Amino acid sequence: REKHAIMDEMGMKRALTRIAHEIIEKNKGVNNVAIIGIRRRGGPLAQRLALRIEEIEGIKIPVGILDITLYRDDLTTLAQQPQVHRTEVNFDINGKRLVLVDDVLYTGRTVRAALDALIDLGRPECIQLAVLIDRGHRELPIKADFIGKNVPTSRQENIEVYVKELDGKDGVVIQEI
Ligand code: 5GP
Ligand code: MG
Repeated sequence: REKHAIMDEMGMKRALTRIAHEIIEKNKGVNNVAIIGIRRRGGPLAQRLALRIEEIEGIKIPVGILDITLYRDDLTTLAQQPQVHRTEVNFDINGKRLVLVDDVLYTGRTVRAALDALIDLGRPECIQLAVLIDRGHRELPIKADFIGKNVPTSRQENIEVYVKELDGKDGVVIQEI
């Protein structure tokens, strides 16, 4: 099975730095901005974006985590169902400009579930979406506001995202499955 590198450590760092700047610009500063990472790899990416923004703007950004996984509930359903396991959002989201962060955007089902979970927690001023990789194949009307890299894929391909915090290295590869 062939693997191709899409992003190395420096490429990932540059993409996150650019997205940090884009978040600041789109929101005209970060006074009311908070970041929510989707477990697992959206978590470290969210932390890194918050750190980068703090370095640039000198403002600490609240960071929360949503734990959402996809499962196939039985063999008769083709589509995967998202399940929200846990929310770790220890700040008031009312009036916040939330940036949801995930590693890969695919059908959009995980983001849809994340939006539901967030709206249950309060009334943010707005919700934006940042992803490291957009691999296409959306099944819902969802698009990202901030994208590290667009990677056209076939459904037979899989993107592997490595983050130092969980995998001991940074990088993105594409793999035929
Ligand atoms: P979606 O819900 O948009 O179909 O899929 C997005 C979620 O599934 C994300 O949380 C992401 O982590 C995971 N995902 C979907 N496709 C891939 C992929 O090719 N590689 C990786 N690493 N994760 C994926
Ligand atoms: Mg995920």
